[in-house]
Amino acid sequence: RRWGVTLPLGYAIGAVRHPDRPAVIDERGALSFAEVDQRTTRLAHGLREHGLVSGGRIGILCRNHHGFVEALIAAGKLGVDSVLLNTGMSSEQLTAVLDEQNVRILVTDSEFVDKHSLPPDVFVVVAWTEGTTSHTTLEQLIGRSEALPLPKRPRHGRMIVLTSGTTGTPKGARRPDPPSLRPATTIMSRVPLRSGERMMICAPLFHTWGLAGFQLGTVLGATLVLHRRFDPQQTVAALQRHRCTSMFAVPVMLQRLLELPEERRRCHDHRCLRIVACSGSALSSTLAHDFQRVFGPVLYNFYGSTEASWVSIATPEDLRTAPGTAGLPPRGTTVRILEEDGSPVPHDTVGAVHVSNEMLFEGYTNGAEVPRRDGLMPTGDLGYLDSRGRLFVVGRADDMIISGGENVYPAETEELIASFPEVSEAVVTGVEDEEYGQRLAAYVVLHEGSTLDAETVRERTRQRLSVFARPRDVVFLDALPRNATGKVVPSRLPDSSPHRN
Ligand code: ATP
Repeated sequence: RRWGVTLPLGYAIGAVRHPDRPAVIDERGALSFAEVDQRTTRLAHGLREHGLVSGGRIGILCRNHHGFVEALIAAGKLGVDSVLLNTGMSSEQLTAVLDEQNVRILVTDSEFVDKHSLPPDVFVVVAWTEGTTSHTTLEQLIGRSEALPLPKRPRHGRMIVLTSGTTGTPKGARRPDPPSLRPATTIMSRVPLRSGERMMICAPLFHTWGLAGFQLGTVLGATLVLHRRFDPQQTVAALQRHRCTSMFAVPVMLQRLLELPEERRRCHDHRCLRIVACSGSALSSTLAHDFQRVFGPVLYNFYGSTEASWVSIATPEDLRTAPGTAGLPPRGTTVRILEEDGSPVPHDTVGAVHVSNEMLFEGYTNGAEVPRRDGLMPTGDLGYLDSRGRLFVVGRADDMIISGGENVYPAETEELIASFPEVSEAVVTGVEDEEYGQRLAAYVVLHEGSTLDAETVRERTRQRLSVFARPRDVVFLDALPRNATGKVVPSRLPDSSPHRN
């Protein structure tokens, strides 16, 4: 199997077919397909001179900007593996990951050089700096080298994506760079993406979801619009300025866009925007409904993971007719709900979600595998299929709690609380309970100016949920602790016991 071909090839083809079309637009301006193709060949030569050869590894620790894109393409041209590093990692985690993944060349932004003390044996290339830097910069490497043909690659570069680590230390997952256009075209069986999209990628490129947008954009000859940090106001303005046709985001970003004061949202015209692709964590039916009321029927809910890539996609129509659904698998993907013993469950019955497609990951870099059953890989989530084959994800298998002997899915309670008009966002987790084994704790953030007390939250859930699915602990917070990909980090939530009834 050949790796790493699509990204470099996509830009090489773009450089011939539409050389002047902008390939990447970021806060520093635009680069055309011809420029990106030439610059990445020069960069590949520059990196080679610093010892990076086929079979080696490069680390990329960057926010979303042209430098990230160019480093990844240059690595593909050289046939080296790229380790995509999470910008939210602590110094300790970063040092451990660089060592574990054997990274000797790191492309990064000066803010991370300032923040972390990087190991001295790692050669640092600064891709983005606000001022001056004593390190070699990406521009220097590009400027010093020529766009000469590169030697043939005995081996092709892969991408190593780190899992977000919400359930442990980040693991390196080897992701295939699709060897052909096929995976992208399967997505198009559910999402009307077109060639030449103007695609805003808000999700971080180091995360599997931002990367998916980038890969899709590449095969579609898309113009990528990138911002280093997600800012709702800037995003709304850029959607209009660049006449973006699609956007890749995570649920909390959609929430932030909706929270913008109405007059700021309304003064922008989103008529070009046809597709808002959302993934990374559960999209509540309330958020999906509210978003489509403001932005129109443009929302697609992608369910997937670093290991499984995309598993299913809900179209705006699915979200309208079956609120909360994660939709149907795209062409070429099979989804099965299985019992623990591997037998299939009837529809509308919760079981373990299993998937097979040609984008399944190739294993963790530490050698660990996810055992497969007849080619089907468990996603680690629980869910069910309705009679029409639409998938509903009820949450991670690890999150399910047993309270008073009953299986309880915190996501159900979370979804209900998030639908209260006073509530901006909520997360529900299981905590130890002497009497019932476990009980639920709700962490709630209110809209500015709204009031709600714990007893009202309990009372409203009493009307809708079984006794064990109601939160006993209700904690009000100003914000939920989230990681760089917008996921709530349970270990950073405060102790809920003082707020128990
Ligand atoms: P770690 O395992 O270290 O915590 P991670 O699994 O959080 O990393 P990802 O691979 O991005 O990193 O997370 C995938 C998980 O996110 C899925 O298994 C699922 O639980 C959740 N998820 C993603 N998209 C959706 C969606 N559309 N609906 C419901 N859940 C989703």
